[in-house]
Amino acid sequence: MMQQVLNYIGGKLGPAAGGQWLEGHAPGEGRVFTHIADSDRQDVDRAVEAATQALPGWMALGRKRRHDALMRVADLVERDLALFAAAESRDNGKPLHLAMEVDVPRAIANLRFFATAILHWESEAHLTDDEAVNYTDRQAVGVAGCISPWNLPLYLFTWKVAPALATGCTVVAKPSELTPLTTHMLAERCIEAGFPPGVLNIVQGTGPKVGAAITEHPAIPAISFTGGTATGARIAATAAPMFKKLSLELGGKNAVLVFADCDFEEMLKETVRSSFSNQGQICLCGSRILVERSLYPRFRAAFVERVKALRVGDPGEQSTDIGAVVSEAHLNKVLSHVALAKEEGGTLLCGGDQVRLGGPLAQGWYMAPTVIEGLGPGCRTNQEEIFGPVVTIQPFDTEEEALQAANGTRYGLASVLWTADGRRMHRMARQLKSGIVWVNCWMLRDLRTPFGGMKHSGVGREGGREALRFFTEPRNVCIKL
Ligand code: NDP
Repeated sequence: MMQQVLNYIGGKLGPAAGGQWLEGHAPGEGRVFTHIADSDRQDVDRAVEAATQALPGWMALGRKRRHDALMRVADLVERDLALFAAAESRDNGKPLHLAMEVDVPRAIANLRFFATAILHWESEAHLTDDEAVNYTDRQAVGVAGCISPWNLPLYLFTWKVAPALATGCTVVAKPSELTPLTTHMLAERCIEAGFPPGVLNIVQGTGPKVGAAITEHPAIPAISFTGGTATGARIAATAAPMFKKLSLELGGKNAVLVFADCDFEEMLKETVRSSFSNQGQICLCGSRILVERSLYPRFRAAFVERVKALRVGDPGEQSTDIGAVVSEAHLNKVLSHVALAKEEGGTLLCGGDQVRLGGPLAQGWYMAPTVIEGLGPGCRTNQEEIFGPVVTIQPFDTEEEALQAANGTRYGLASVLWTADGRRMHRMARQLKSGIVWVNCWMLRDLRTPFGGMKHSGVGREGGREALRFFTEPRNVCIKL
């Protein structure tokens, strides 16, 4: 029996109104294993209607009871963590242990973090010289549209939906059609938890049909989107003349800057992780590794040796480091970037090819982790987002040169800096044009911090109070005493 991935509208699971289905693939096996509701505008309209009807009741419920409802859902996801992780791994191709240790625990943490954050969120007030008191009243913005990508499916879905719901918004959400299975399971847990109908609505289907209908819907005043920069630009063009609030978390081309004084072993271990975690399909992965010239030969040898030792294999196996990439189309796109790198004069130090596994995984979409050298900062390989298991390494001589290369792309999401020099940490951190600078670490996340990119990596910030602000409308109330 094929697993069905259904819409969740008005508290009920069901197929798309038009009766159409999409095929969902298991990337590790390269075969269809789900049928996904192929929704369209009429399903989005129904979801918006349900969300609009549920809005006054959900807002009036108050923070404490919204907190309780979100916590009940989080508890059920935690109870079924292993089931969620297995589904995420099969739907996305990522190693099961990564889903067990990162994706699903973080989804649970997102729900709990925003459920509790809302309890402790205060608004501002001050007295003026004119004997007036001003306070800021923040109310839910209304029905929020949340659109999320395939790389960290439930993790990024809950990262948007949880703060929206905590503030009192009702939600119409769309996961990526490539990896929707865990959102269907989340909907089942919402029903089990007695979540009020219409508060969270999930419309399954494609970006051009469902995503566009959400973006264009006049009754949705705020859109929170994570995905590619080109899609973000399309959404911004639609939303701007409608004066919608927009939060856009887009692509990246993150630089890793390695200075000779760093803790070499720690840097090496973390740089392998920041390059190839989730098959390099994390917007925060470092894809351009810049190494101080005196350290370059040692780094190059040790890094390539470690990368060659990574095990590409069955996502279900504990020993697997690199699972499958998300789709055949994406695999071909990543391979085309490797071909481009060769055309541009790059040298492959390892990887570069598809990996064929045996047995039931023979049709899966696997790729060897790839390291390229010999390319300058301006070439397309070092400018365009690849979003796969491919990194370049380049030597640099001075801090200025490293900064120029690091900042020399249209993206500005994250940077990683490896150095033992405290002054350099601050000096460089201030000059790196990215929304996040990790120093001597990578992906060390605290949910209170502002998260987002500069330049073409996005507009606005998520996380902590920033997310609560986004999903609320601040109003000034001025009372003359
Ligand atoms: P896409 O931009 O292709 O898709 C993201 C989401 O938008 C999907 O749900 C997609 O639906 C939907 N979508 C597609 N077209 C439209 C449209 N016209 N209107 C509205 N929605 C639409 O990105 P990917 O899913 O390929 O994700 C990878 C990208 O996401 C990378 O560029 C990566 O850097 C970025 N990303 C950024 C992060 C950040 O925090 N800055 C974090 C994670 C990823 P469907 O897939 O069903 O077509």
